[in-house]
Amino acid sequence: MKSAIFGTKLFKFGCGMFEKNRIITIANQKGGVGKTTTAINLATALAAIGERVLIVDLDPQGNASTGLGIDRKDRKLSSYDVLVGEADIGQAVVETAVPNLFIIPSTMDLLGFEMEISQASDRAFRLRRALASDDALSFSYILVDCPPSFNLLTMNAMAAAHSVLVPLQCEFFALEGLSQLLETVDQVRQTVNPSLDIQGIVLTMFDARNNLAQQVVSDVRTYLGDKVYHTLIPRNVRVSEAPSYGKPAILYDLKCAGSQAYLQLASEVIQRERRRKAA
Ligand code: ADP
Ligand code: MG
Repeated sequence: MKSAIFGTKLFKFGCGMFEKNRIITIANQKGGVGKTTTAINLATALAAIGERVLIVDLDPQGNASTGLGIDRKDRKLSSYDVLVGEADIGQAVVETAVPNLFIIPSTMDLLGFEMEISQASDRAFRLRRALASDDALSFSYILVDCPPSFNLLTMNAMAAAHSVLVPLQCEFFALEGLSQLLETVDQVRQTVNPSLDIQGIVLTMFDARNNLAQQVVSDVRTYLGDKVYHTLIPRNVRVSEAPSYGKPAILYDLKCAGSQAYLQLASEVIQRERRRKAA
């Protein structure tokens, strides 16, 4: 798969000099590490702070869409329609129950995207082109929730983004997976997006009683220093229950440790953005 994406010369678009919104791709090739949970709850927390936020659900499984209570029957236009050029961002955006938070939902149609589009010279730039619109500029943050693999969907997300946010589960193979991901980001920089940045690494499902988790945290911090957020997202049952009610944890139970951690993460993201813009 990798070679099909990186092997051929790809049509390139210029990068915007002036960044009006921040497009963050949430990626990790492993499933079940907290990508979607982070997309939903970080987006909700940013929206609660007053940012206008859009989630683009690029996973055919559509967990971000379901977790935000978007019924399948209400997904008339989806991220697939945006990628194939059948809809623009403004048409495909759906409101959520959270004020200031919008989503472009996904449907199973995305499963066909790779096959249908694999011959097109602009195949990696479909999302970037769509997000160059004025409608996309009306959001201060756009979070792209990726599927758990390095496929053409993830490549579109990385080609469109200013940065990558990596949720990392505190477990034994975490570092191995992380170095693979960082290699991919390097390859993306050399091919489709030279200015792609690492937004940060967020450690998820942390269990303080587990010695191994403590070790993973300290190893990741040694390896990546201040790219790792101070906020640790704890393993928290309320966080895992929330999606079945179609709600972000922050709406389902604001006081639980998981919700509080995501609010803290959002303020860290915003503080770092302010520092980055000032630099
Ligand atoms: P990914 O999108 O990377 O596949 P998810 O965000 O869907 O991962 O998370 C995988 C599973 O773990 C889901 O069932 C989710 O509810 C659960 N989960 C995620 N974060 C937490 C957490 N902090 N505490 C408890 N469960 C969590
Ligand atoms: Mg997911």
